[in-house]
Amino acid sequence: MNTNGQIPLVDLVTPHQELEDELVSVFKTALKTAGFIGGPIVEAFEREFAEFCGVPCCVGVGSGTDALRFALIAAGVQPGDTVVTVPNTFIATTEAISQAGARSDFVDVDERTYTMDPERLRSYLETECTRDLQTGRAVSKRTGSPVTALIPVHLYGQMADMDPILELAARYNLVVIEDACQAHGAEYFSKKENRWRKAGSLGRAATFSFYPGKNLGACGEAGAVTTNDEALARQVRMLRDHGQSKKYYHDVEGYNGRIDAIQAGILRVKLQHLGRWNEERRQTAERYNELLAPLAGSVATPYQPSWSKPVHHLYVIRTSYRDELQRHLTAAGIGTGIHYPIPIHLQVAYAALGWTRGDFPVSEDAADQILSLPMFAGLRSRDQHRVVEAVAAFASVRSIS
Ligand SMILES: *Cc1c(COP(=O)(O)O)cnc(C)c1O
Repeated sequence: MNTNGQIPLVDLVTPHQELEDELVSVFKTALKTAGFIGGPIVEAFEREFAEFCGVPCCVGVGSGTDALRFALIAAGVQPGDTVVTVPNTFIATTEAISQAGARSDFVDVDERTYTMDPERLRSYLETECTRDLQTGRAVSKRTGSPVTALIPVHLYGQMADMDPILELAARYNLVVIEDACQAHGAEYFSKKENRWRKAGSLGRAATFSFYPGKNLGACGEAGAVTTNDEALARQVRMLRDHGQSKKYYHDVEGYNGRIDAIQAGILRVKLQHLGRWNEERRQTAERYNELLAPLAGSVATPYQPSWSKPVHHLYVIRTSYRDELQRHLTAAGIGTGIHYPIPIHLQVAYAALGWTRGDFPVSEDAADQILSLPMFAGLRSRDQHRVVEAVAAFASVRSIS
């Protein structure tokens, strides 16, 4: 899609037009059986997505936010607990923590990857927590409550540096829930195990969103929890369905958080293309890296550590002239985005928690300088050239290259 010479940040229309017949037949099948909730299509998708992630269990839920909330509760996070995550994420991460009754604490991110900095996590646990002598747990000095879980966010399609994070989690007895909502198919090389591991297979549980704009997107809302832990999966199955173990037998109070069969059927169709789409995103990212290399003095391209095989949910550059560059690209008909403009700790919604500017400087500086360029499977090479030419033209006018 390239209407009126505009290059969108993301093209959601073309892939759906290409798959129209298959997607419509999903809907027709559902109409024939009126099997709209649960049933064999949902179960088939859960099996296939579990296999894709290299885990035994997947539970489809209503959204990525549901997935995070259910994973935390099922993993045993209690009301009043403290859960640690990063400030530069989508608010769903901290919404889920609050909705599970817990409190968020933050550690800042690595300057180059924008994902949780294991050194800062170590320093948080060592200096911003005390150790409860009875339980051995870290207790946050700020919240006064035990730190029981950790949510590293695999941002922009690249996983967090999981080896040292998992090691610290083991040492402090913390449950790790991966926020893999932007990382369907991303991989991490675990030195400890000497092999590549898929996003969603490393934590106690992991959470995925199938919001339409994600690498694997539904035609509506959907999400999933993946895990190696059968008991946790069973718990999530109950939580998504009003706490039922069987119909009208409610073991716990749960939620209405099911994935519907039409979305599951749509996701099954699209899952078959995800590997190819991710490969196209990789090629697109490489082309951007090459084309933008001459501007290295003023525009930083995404950093990819040797342990990472990202799936480039977003292609995020960094420049101190971000706002002007964004205006310039908008005027040239090029769609851009900022993911995200305000770090979570500075959002109005959390004003009462008392965070201030300066608390997490790496996230704050990034928020002022990052810019997401058009990135999607099917982005044509000539359109990419146009994007880079527009960036270069701006850089030369500003004489910043
Ligand atoms: C999209 C996203 C979510 C939330 O997913 P929904 O399906 O929109 O509820 C959570 N975390 C991150 C990092 C996301 O990008």
